[in-house]
Amino acid sequence: MTTLKSLAQVKLHHHYADLGAAFGTALPPTPLQNPRLVHANPAVLSLLGINPAEAGNPLWAQVTGGATLLSGSKPFAMKYTGHQFGSYNPDLGDGRALLLGEVEHDGKRWDLHLKGAGQTPYSRFGDGRAVLRSTIREYLAGEALTALGIRSTRALCLVDSDEPVAREKMETGAALIRVARTHVRFGHFEYLFYTRQLEAQRALVQFVCGQFLPDSAGEDAQAQAEALLRFTVARSAELVAGWQSVGFAHGVLNTDNMSIIGDTFDFGPYGFLDDYEPGFICNHSDHTGRYAFDAQPGVVLWNLNALAHAFSSLLDTETLKDCLGQYQPLLIDAYAARMRAKLGLEVEDEGDQQLCADLLQLLEAGSVDYTLFFRALSRYCGERPPLALEALLPPAQHPALRHWLDQYDHRLQKEIRASAVRSQAMLHTNPKFILRNYLAQEVIEAAQQGDYRPLGDFLGLLQQPFEEHPAFERWAAPPPESGKHLPISCSS
Ligand code: AMP
Ligand code: MG
Repeated sequence: MTTLKSLAQVKLHHHYADLGAAFGTALPPTPLQNPRLVHANPAVLSLLGINPAEAGNPLWAQVTGGATLLSGSKPFAMKYTGHQFGSYNPDLGDGRALLLGEVEHDGKRWDLHLKGAGQTPYSRFGDGRAVLRSTIREYLAGEALTALGIRSTRALCLVDSDEPVAREKMETGAALIRVARTHVRFGHFEYLFYTRQLEAQRALVQFVCGQFLPDSAGEDAQAQAEALLRFTVARSAELVAGWQSVGFAHGVLNTDNMSIIGDTFDFGPYGFLDDYEPGFICNHSDHTGRYAFDAQPGVVLWNLNALAHAFSSLLDTETLKDCLGQYQPLLIDAYAARMRAKLGLEVEDEGDQQLCADLLQLLEAGSVDYTLFFRALSRYCGERPPLALEALLPPAQHPALRHWLDQYDHRLQKEIRASAVRSQAMLHTNPKFILRNYLAQEVIEAAQQGDYRPLGDFLGLLQQPFEEHPAFERWAAPPPESGKHLPISCSS
């Protein structure tokens, strides 16, 4: 067992910044006025090999507020471009964030990325800042998805400040340190491709392969590029399967918001489904529904096509097509596995896909809460009338529910596990607590008044969403009608 470091012992590396000027610009953060620590995340500290007791260290406020650099830090704004709502934008990059450096622990490298760090050469007309509202949303989402077993960036700590920042109304500047194995996006490769910096593009392929595909070390650029593209396709397929199974809509699936390793990345106007509504659009500005919940599988493939195009400098068309061809079968398999687990089905049966589709149709027709239904189904054991489940559906849907449950009972007979064991497994797959937008809003409004306790409470629930937490029933209750479809804007 390795000993946990104190904050003073942390030493950052800067492998990415050392790649050179083709990859971004070195510059220091612009300090925030009077930064105050809102939260530091002991779980992420442990991940980095830092003593979780360091969550209370006041130095975090200085580091996250941009006033102090950790030892070895070489802040660097990364350059990338990307396709936003289908159009190529050459002017992107870290406009309000800096890669502070990398922590190495247990053979793994983790990026520390300061979001809200002030202006950079890639800020365009932006102020380089982030506000408390959006940093809290990002903080919560990373933890919620991680706990649900879905790959995501996370956040180490979060500060508020006295710095006024203008959005739709005046807010305060805030910042968080985002932690991920890498911050390389699809857009990094698009930038180097469209500016014909092909040597640098090869170097980036080698850099990412060195970290994630060590078996490809020593292979030529072409073989490494193919290995990387296959890896990204596979990881992205798994990621979307995870989102669709828990009811997560990202909201802004531009290629600059897509991680090359398939982490959920760059949280904006995301949303978790309340009622099961496949066409759910969480982003208030997404007028055409390009990034609607049920559009995500297709749009991620669109993004992978954009990435593959950027790899056309390294790979021939047949190879690109072959890599992309993996996406659909992998996605279907990964989604089926996740949905079988939600239904408590351990054995594979050819009728499972239909059983699942029938249920989703029922949930859609009855506007049923997605999370509450699966949680209640986890405790179902063949009872008639199925009171707990019926309570979640309008009476007109009860006959259809019973019909579906008859099919489900029949299907369960093929299972080998005892029903009590199945029920326990389902209770550890179907969360009791989910990150509903209206609850996030409550936490944000309390924090804006200086009360950070609800944030800590909610975070604790989201980090252990399968536990009962009897003192916190209110957070697991059905959302009020007024809490559904809150307009979440892109401004952050
Ligand atoms: P996002 O919508 O957060 O994914 O950001 C898209 C692009 O706009 C990225 O290049 C960001 O760095 C940049 N950006 C977003 N907000 C700001 C801001 N307040 N100041 C400067 N750049 C920003
Ligand atoms: Mg972004």
